[in-house]
Amino acid sequence: MIIAIDGPAASGKGTISKRIADYFSLPHLDTGSLYRLAAHHIIENNIDPYDINNIIKSSKEINFSEKKLLDIRDSNVSYTASIISQYKELRELLIDYQRNFASDGGVVDGRDIGTIIFPNADYKFFITASLEERANRRYLQYKEDNIKLDRNSIKTDIKDRDLRDMNRKIAPLKRAIDAVEIDTTSMKIDDVIDFIVKYIHKGMKFD
Ligand code: C5P
Repeated sequence: MIIAIDGPAASGKGTISKRIADYFSLPHLDTGSLYRLAAHHIIENNIDPYDINNIIKSSKEINFSEKKLLDIRDSNVSYTASIISQYKELRELLIDYQRNFASDGGVVDGRDIGTIIFPNADYKFFITASLEERANRRYLQYKEDNIKLDRNSIKTDIKDRDLRDMNRKIAPLKRAIDAVEIDTTSMKIDDVIDFIVKYIHKGMKFD
């Protein structure tokens, strides 16, 4: 079973995907971490995020194995990830990794999972929440990690990143036509999980 979960920045899709994967005993892949790892590598090697040739050359050196997927969430990495993710060549470099990861099933989250990576996924969800709520969730996450950032700059970062992700030519952020959209603005995480689990169980029964 392949479950594709897409949505804008800080929508909670990562947490939701992890819990759904645990529930169904499936592996979970946060595809944002692939782009973040490439961004981190590019920053570390002082490569200009607009220097596409160097980015591709250098990204080929990265070992995108599970162990190496770091949870790097700082704003420079996020920004750089959203710049380099616009390049077709980089996206193509990551397609096989993503498809192989879930070849025996999995929960995969990102921006283009239901549209490009797994267009035939068994279940597709598109997780949203208002910008205000997403900025607030990210703020609380940073606070928990002792990172001091003000709410407004988080909000601006998220908004700009979404715009870039939605407006790029290749694999833009959008709901797959057959994805179930869940607006989580005023939902508790447990209720979201409950909804998805029930939805999948229902689908399984009628298969
Ligand atoms: O999901 P996360 O916020 O960690 O992703 C970081 C950035 O990586 C996104 O803003 C987006 O530009 C890029 N990304 C993407 N396609 C994916 C996952 C992430 O373009 N499937």
